Amino acid sequence: MATRELICIICPKGCNLKAELDEDGKVLEVTGNTCKRGAEYAENECTNPMRTVTSTMRCSDGTVIPVKTTTPIPKGKIYECMNLINKGVVNLPVHIGDIVIADVFGSNIAVTENRT
Ligand code: SF4
Repeated sequence: MATRELICIICPKGCNLKAELDEDGKVLEVTGNTCKRGAEYAENECTNPMRTVTSTMRCSDGTVIPVKTTTPIPKGKIYECMNLINKGVVNLPVHIGDIVIADVFGSNIAVTENRT
């Protein structure tokens, strides 16, 4: 059995969580959470951690524009996601929410700022 200590990042309260795991990495118990969202966070963080990726992409005029994944992606895929972002070029004009790269590990890359 193993114990992982985590800080819940779901809300600003930042509860200190402890997750007890069995030998196979299965979460047996979560303590320290004030609500059930903390238990879900700890379980996901221990078994399938996900992250929203935020970055910038080059635009066709040479400037850069902020982008992010529309949903979290597996933490282990961040490097590959960044490679796709770094290789891409955004054709202007674009608007908030426009998808500039589709189907990135179950998510999309969308712009977060208008640019003409
Ligand atoms: S456990 Fe609940 S109250 Fe505590 S930080 Fe997480 S979401 Fe917020």
